[in-house]
Amino acid sequence: MEENFIEHKELFEHLSSKQTPHTLFIGCSDSRVVPNLITNTLPGELFVVRNIANIVPHYRLVDEYLATTAAIEYAIYTLGIKNIIVCGHSNCGGCEALYQSDEKLSRTPVVKKWLLIIDHIKKEVLKDKDITPAKRAWVTERLNIINSLQNIMTFPGIIDRLKAGELKLYGWHYIIETGELYNFNSGTKSFKLLEKSINYDEIYSQIFTDF
Ligand SMILES: [Zn+2]
Repeated sequence: MEENFIEHKELFEHLSSKQTPHTLFIGCSDSRVVPNLITNTLPGELFVVRNIANIVPHYRLVDEYLATTAAIEYAIYTLGIKNIIVCGHSNCGGCEALYQSDEKLSRTPVVKKWLLIIDHIKKEVLKDKDITPAKRAWVTERLNIINSLQNIMTFPGIIDRLKAGELKLYGWHYIIETGELYNFNSGTKSFKLLEKSINYDEIYSQIFTDF
């Protein structure tokens, strides 16, 4: 910890009086999802919101889900961030919990209530009666990312900012075991693997300059 601090001493001194992050990163609370590692960024670059299953509630639900909605609101309207990344991930326990029995979820009634926000995704996925557990997980995680992107659109004035190019919105599916990132393409409505070039720094600098 101390070594980390010494390594970034000058940066922390520079950041001591204010933060000017360029990106709002919305990710799962999962311990394997490490925002700065995934994006190859330093302290001061990301404003981070994490919750179970990287869910963004509809803005109208603001009275119920204050912590997540308040953090997103603050990032957009006070910090004026330029990019929003919704980052879901493989093997997401939150998404999987959608399919657990009421008995199993009885120990975590608040988690159960939180997941009701994306209950419609479960209904959609289960329309495919023959779906395998692996495909079910994959599809649920991706529909959940798209759902969060759609709910970001419900925040006031967001669509105008996107149209004006003042804000960019990204949906990523992060694969834990390989480190791969699939980026949601809103035109084709599909996720496309971000090419792994020789070095990660290059990929991320491309992503961020593309923002
Ligand atoms: Zn998760």
